[in-house]
Amino acid sequence: MATAACLQREGVEFDLIDRRGECGGAYPHIYAGLQLLSPARYTQLPGLPIRNGRSRGGEYVTVPQYREYLAEYARHFQLQPAAREVRSIERAVSGFDVRFTDSDQPTQYSSVVVATGMFDAPFIPPIEGITSTTSEKLHSRDWPGPVRFSGKRVLVIGGGMSGVEIAEECVRAGLPVTISSRHPIRAVRRRLFGIDIHHFVHAVSHWLPLWTLGSFCDRLPAFPAFDQGIRRMLASNQVNLRGEVRRFDQRVAEFIDGSREEFDVVVLATGYRFHTPFLNIAIERGSRGQPLINKNQSRNCPNLFFVGFPCARIFPSEFLRGIAFDAPFVARHIARRK
Ligand SMILES: Cc1cc2nc3c(=O)[nH]c(=O)nc-3n(C[C@H](O)[C@H](O)[C@H](O)COP(=O)(O)OP(=O)(O)OC[C@H]3O[C@@H](n4cnc5c(N)ncnc54)[C@H](O)[C@@H]3O)c2cc1C
Repeated sequence: MATAACLQREGVEFDLIDRRGECGGAYPHIYAGLQLLSPARYTQLPGLPIRNGRSRGGEYVTVPQYREYLAEYARHFQLQPAAREVRSIERAVSGFDVRFTDSDQPTQYSSVVVATGMFDAPFIPPIEGITSTTSEKLHSRDWPGPVRFSGKRVLVIGGGMSGVEIAEECVRAGLPVTISSRHPIRAVRRRLFGIDIHHFVHAVSHWLPLWTLGSFCDRLPAFPAFDQGIRRMLASNQVNLRGEVRRFDQRVAEFIDGSREEFDVVVLATGYRFHTPFLNIAIERGSRGQPLINKNQSRNCPNLFFVGFPCARIFPSEFLRGIAFDAPFVARHIARRK
């Protein structure tokens, strides 16, 4: 949406395609009980500030408020994606042949901007017995909030941002919860001297050359969680911390240290993959399959642009503030090549 709005401003003709045919990307499907962790000013897209009802003194927006903002954004720029799914993208003599699932005829484009995010490709870890466990199993993408699991014993696999947030919610709702994590939980303070930490990170992250991050963009390690109570909950044993799960046997999880425990619910907070199965082009990829990108373009395929992908141009490119920063740049770049 951000790229489309910027292309419109540059006077570039474009087709906006979305498999679900709706604006808002992942947001209509993200659990409504969440508040965005970034302050609102870092979640607004180019050309339209966030005005609608913010919570906490106007600093943050909730998921429903952000959905409303995206709907307003679509109305403001008159964006309506065609409900089509991209099946394949191939290199053509000049530009790209794009095939959709509803037709065998390719459509030619001189540039393609891939903005498919990661929400559609949740990662399921290959743990023995995971498919046959009789505990209720779900990915964090489908977390409906703790109310549905009242009185149940919850195992959260993954100690990153979403795992920690879900465990915190379980504690607040009075559910017994265990986090299984390979590493000690890393939870950073959300505020420093009363100021949201994003303001400090923002000041440097936009101008930090990617080469200073070493192998970060290739490896893509998980980001630490924000401490919204987790440190206190761990210290007071309200959250039980375990190592990796070695295997599942019915409702029982066996951990790496040999201990076993029964759970009613298993939440896989194991992240996502930036998956682009429709790209029939041998582009350079990192160790987790993510496209390797330089200034929003594939490193080895010119005019194939990426927005909302890790390290696309800056450190936070995969986040909303990165998208807001990168979309005008991509649109200008395409406009200059017309
Ligand atoms: C729980 C959660 C909380 C978050 N909180 C924050 C936050 O506080 N701050 C922040 O900056 N970021 C946050 N993020 C990240 C932020 O949501 C993403 O950066 C943003 O959604 C990326 O937008 P996108 O348009 O690139 O991808 P998405 O929003 O995932 O949209 C991708 C779209 O592509 C479509 N699509 C996929 N494949 C195809 C295909 N083959 N053909 C056609 N269409 C296709 C999908 O239907 C979808 O609509 C959060 C993410 C999650 C999951």
